[in-house]
Amino acid sequence: MVSIDEVRLQVALGNRILANEGVLDAFGHVSMRHPAKLDRYFLSRSRAPELVEPDDVLEYDLDSNPVKRTGQRLYAERVIHGEIYKARPDVMAVVHHHAPAVMPFCISGADLKPVMHLGAIIGHKVPMWDQHDEFGDTNLLLVKPEEGASLARALGYAPLVLMKGHGATVVGGTIQELVFRAIYSCRNAEYQFAAQMLGHVSPLRPGEVEKAAQINAMPTATFRTWEYWQARLEKAGGGLPRRGKKSVGAPAKRASVERATSKKSKAKAKGRKR
Ligand SMILES: [Zn+2]
Repeated sequence: MVSIDEVRLQVALGNRILANEGVLDAFGHVSMRHPAKLDRYFLSRSRAPELVEPDDVLEYDLDSNPVKRTGQRLYAERVIHGEIYKARPDVMAVVHHHAPAVMPFCISGADLKPVMHLGAIIGHKVPMWDQHDEFGDTNLLLVKPEEGASLARALGYAPLVLMKGHGATVVGGTIQELVFRAIYSCRNAEYQFAAQMLGHVSPLRPGEVEKAAQINAMPTATFRTWEYWQARLEKAGGGLPRRGKKSVGAPAKRASVERATSKKSKAKAKGRKR
């Protein structure tokens, strides 16, 4: 089982990777369920995702209250995470985002469909949740447990749910699967949108969706992409310094090159705080 330090590190990395890939901006957040205490989860204090450090990551109960008293500012929409973990025992990681790729679908109500093999991870049909249906006029933030529970019901057993006029929430069985699903659901949305401009969208057939989704869920796909996205994060200067060891985000070879770099450039990289 992974240690809690490792979970905190993975939450920080998941946030930074998704910010680096254009899924998250100043807003949005990634969480992971506690690997041993299944009624707890880990989520950063309120902070832009690309800045999240392992030490920012706090432990919450499933009612989304911090386990230890804290004076830190907390994300307003953490009930999204707590209520989904209550409803979906299979879910070990969650991200809520407002990525530009999905917003046209959240605004128009157009169906998001799997249109390419890597996009098969979105399933046959992506559910759409409209906060107004149950709660009338709101500021569109999910701050009450009943709002989070309503979103979890709309998600059902799907890998993601679109949120009318707001964004999307994606779930995964691991942080690697979550990041894969978040990025390729956005890519799929971009390709569907572009194909529509050409005049015709031809989604994958149901049998193709099932077969392609099985391949995409294999560890070879999730680990290869996780390593690739970490390398891109490192190149962009957003890697995380791991106490006294290689920086996280760099594959082994890159890390050994980094260890050989001058003290000066290391200090610079540390101070960059991206
Ligand atoms: Zn939001």
